Amino acid sequence: AKSIRESLAKTRQSVFGQVAGLFGAGDIDDIFWEELEELLIQGDVGVKTTLHLVEWLQEQVEERNLWRTDQVRELLRQRMVEILKEAEQPYLPGQRMLNVVLVVGVNGSGKTTTIGKLAKWHKDRGDRVVLAAADTFRAAAIDQLKIWGERVGADVIAHQPGSDPGAVVFDAIRTSFGRRDASVVIIDTAGRLQTQYNLMQELAKIKNICAKQVHKAPHETLLVLDANTGQNALSQAQKFKEIADVSGVVLTKLDSTAKGGMALAIAYEHGLPIKWIGTGEAVEDLQPFNAEEFVDALFG
Ligand code: GDP
Repeated sequence: AKSIRESLAKTRQSVFGQVAGLFGAGDIDDIFWEELEELLIQGDVGVKTTLHLVEWLQEQVEERNLWRTDQVRELLRQRMVEILKEAEQPYLPGQRMLNVVLVVGVNGSGKTTTIGKLAKWHKDRGDRVVLAAADTFRAAAIDQLKIWGERVGADVIAHQPGSDPGAVVFDAIRTSFGRRDASVVIIDTAGRLQTQYNLMQELAKIKNICAKQVHKAPHETLLVLDANTGQNALSQAQKFKEIADVSGVVLTKLDSTAKGGMALAIAYEHGLPIKWIGTGEAVEDLQPFNAEEFVDALFG
C-alpha cells in the first residue's frame, strides 16, 4: 500500500505546499495572516476551524513575542496535530463476538469500495465476514457488493432490488449466527440524503433490527466521506450525525484531492473520530488514521 505521504502528494504540492511556502523567514504582518487564512479555507479546513487556528496562532505570537513567519510553522503543525489527535481513535472490533458494522454515506463517496477494503482487513486477521447488501434501492450497488465479496472471500447476503433493507440485515445477522466462526457483519446502506426523512427511518429500522439480534449492535456506524467534496462533505457529516449516530468517519480519496484539510474540520468542528482513510481504489488502500503522519504528509 502507498504511504500516507505518497497519497497526499497532490495536496502537498498545491494548497498545503503554498501554506508551507508562507513560512519563509519574512516578518509576520497582516498580509501573512490574510494569506494563511485564505489558503486554509481553500484547503478545506473549514471556516470555523481556520478562524480558530489563526486566532490561536495570533495569541501565541503575541505571548511569545515572535516576529518571523518561520516561527509560526511549528506552532501551526503542533496545533493541527493536537486537533487531529482528538480524532485518532482506532477501529477496534470486539473479540469473540459478532461485530456489526453499519456503513453510511452518500452515493459515490466510496462506500462500497470501503466495505470491500474493510472486509479484506477483517479477512486478513482471520475473521469470517458477511456483507449485507442493504442498499436495495440500487441494483448496481448489490452487484458491486457481490463483486467485492467474491474478490475478498466474504459471503454476501442480498435480496431482490427494491426489497426491504431491514429484511436483508436480519437475514445477514441470522446467517452469521448460524456459523460458529462468524465474526463481522458489514452492512451497506442507501445513500439518498435528498430523501433525508426516508433514509432516517430506514437507518433507524436497520439499527433496531441489529440491536434486537446482537447485544449493543451496531458496534460501529462508519460515515464515508469523499475528501474531494469539501464543504459538501462537511454538511453531509452534520446531517448523518443527526440521523445515524455516527461513531467514526472514513475519509476516502485522499490520493486524488488537492486539498485534504477536511480532516481538521471533521475533528474540530464535528468532533468525529476518523477511523480510516482511503488512499486509492485498490483493496489494500485503506489505512488507520494517524494524526502526526497526516500533518507531516500535508506540509512535510
Ligand atoms: P459508493 O457509491 O459510495 O458505493 O461508491 P463506490 O465505492 O462505488 O466508489 C465510487 C468511485 O470512487 C469508484 O470509482 C471507486 O473506485 C472510487 N474510490 C473509492 N475510494 C477511493 C479512494 O480512496 N481513492 C480513489 N482514488 N478512488 C476511490
